[in-house]
Amino acid sequence: MKELTCPSCGGKLEADRKNPNIEVCRQCSKTYTFQKIHSEATGEAKLRLTPVPDRIAYEPVEKKERKKTGWEPYGWKRGVALTILFFVLMFIMYGPKVYERYQMDHASVTTEAQE
Ligand SMILES: [Zn+2]
Repeated sequence: MKELTCPSCGGKLEADRKNPNIEVCRQCSKTYTFQKIHSEATGEAKLRLTPVPDRIAYEPVEKKERKKTGWEPYGWKRGVALTILFFVLMFIMYGPKVYERYQMDHASVTTEAQE
């Protein structure tokens, strides 16, 4: 097997102990994966090095609200808010009609007076 050199600094690459598919540069400690590419045109097998992004820099983004059921700790507040919103919408939609009906039943004098 040919000795691989680091594309960025030219240092020697050696296989990672944990993962033989990963090459680590001795000088700059960058990691690369290599793929054997068989060229059909020339019939030669070539190695292509692909830089591996630093794993330490990667931190998964935590989705804090997704993990919970939705009823804690703010779930009850949301539920109360939705209930209030429901009644407010009901009042806006049916309030005037109910009030009109109430006037017809109990305050017919005032409706006549308004006309
Ligand atoms: Zn290097």
